Amino acid sequence: MYRAPGRVNLIGEHTDYNDGFALPLAIQQGCTATVRVTDGVEIRVTSTQRADDPVVVPVAELGGVEGWGAYPVGVLWAFAERGVQLPGLDVRLDSDVPGGAGLSSSAALICALAAAVNDLLGLGLSRPDLVTLTHRTENDYVGAPTGGMDQMAALLCEADHVLLCDMRAWSGTPVPFDLGAAGLELLVVDTHARHHHADGEYADRRAACEKAAGLLGVAALRDVSLDDLDAALGRLPDDVLRRRVRHVVTEDARVLSTVELLRAGRLRDIGPLLNASQASMRDDYEITAPEVDTAVEALLGAGAHGARMTGGGFGGCVIALVPPNGVTRATNAVQRAYRKAGFAPASAFTVHPSSGAHPA
Ligand code: ADP
Ligand code: MG
Repeated sequence: MYRAPGRVNLIGEHTDYNDGFALPLAIQQGCTATVRVTDGVEIRVTSTQRADDPVVVPVAELGGVEGWGAYPVGVLWAFAERGVQLPGLDVRLDSDVPGGAGLSSSAALICALAAAVNDLLGLGLSRPDLVTLTHRTENDYVGAPTGGMDQMAALLCEADHVLLCDMRAWSGTPVPFDLGAAGLELLVVDTHARHHHADGEYADRRAACEKAAGLLGVAALRDVSLDDLDAALGRLPDDVLRRRVRHVVTEDARVLSTVELLRAGRLRDIGPLLNASQASMRDDYEITAPEVDTAVEALLGAGAHGARMTGGGFGGCVIALVPPNGVTRATNAVQRAYRKAGFAPASAFTVHPSSGAHPA
C-alpha cells in the first residue's frame, strides 16, 4: 500500500516542456494504491471514486484501455514495456485529490501505483526510474501530453520543501520551504472553473514554443537567457509568439530567483515574484480565466503577500501566501468577489509541503 501526493506548483508554469524550471510542492491530499498479487491472469482495478466502473484486463493484453482505467493500466503497461513479467494483480485506488483541478490527481494515482508495484514485486527501480516510467504512462499510453513536473513532484518531494525541477537534467532538488517557521500559510483556492478548451489551448502553447525555439535556433526556450530576451524577441515575426516566449523566459528566471530567496530564508519576500508570474500568465501566455483573475485580485486585496494561478490553467486553482490570521479574511474576500461577479462559490484550504510517494 503506497500513497502519493497531489501537488501545487509554487512557481514555474508551462516551463517544463521548454526544458525549463518548476518549483512544485507535494500537498497532503493524495492517492492510496493497494496492490495484491492474485493467482489469476488478469489485472483488476477498482477506484473508490469510480465505484461502479471496475476495470479488468488480461495481463497478456494491456493495450487499448480508455477512460480512467488508462491511468492504472498504463502504469502496468509501462512496467511490461521495461520487460517486467507481471503476475495477476488486484489494484484498489482511493484518492482525495480533486480531479481536473490542476492539483495533479492523475500523477498521484499513477505514482502511488508505480511505487506500490515496484515494492511488491521487488523490482528495485529508483525514484528517477519511476519518474520516467510514469511520465511514459501519461504521455504514451493515456495520450495526455505532460511535461514531467507532476510525476517528479509525486515521487521526489520532501516535507517542508519545494522541489526545484530542472526539466532538461530531468532532476529534482529539494529547497527549504518551511511555512511554519516563516509564520505563513499557503492557501489554495479551487475556482471550480474548468474550461473545456483547455486541452487544445495547452497543445497550442506547446506548439508555439516549439515554433519559436526553431526560429531562434535553440533546442528549447530554456536556452534563451533573460539577457538575450530582447534580442530574441526582435527576431520573432509576430506579437503573439513574442509574448509566449517572454512568458517562458521570464518565468524560468522567476523560478530561479524564488529559489535564491528561499535558500536565503526569505520566504516572505517571494510574493512579488508570484504576482509577476500571475501577470505574465494572464497577459503574455493568456492561460488564466476570469475566475482565476478575480480570485487573485481578491486575495491580494485581503492582504496576501502574493498570489498566482497554479497548474496548466484556464481555471483550476490559485495559491496565495497569507499570514496565519489572514486565512479567513482572504477566503471571505474571494467568496464576496465571486458573488459579485456571479460565479459559483470557490473552495479554499491550506496546504503543507508534504513528502512524495511513501508506504501508507
Ligand atoms: P489532474 O491531474 O490535474 O487532476 P487530469 O486530467 O490530468 O487532471 O487527470 C484527471 C483524471 O485522472 C481523471 O479524469 C481520471 O481519469 C483520473 N483519475 C484521477 N484520480 C482518480 C481516481 N481516484 N479514480 C479514478 N480515476 C482517477
Ligand atoms: Mg494530471
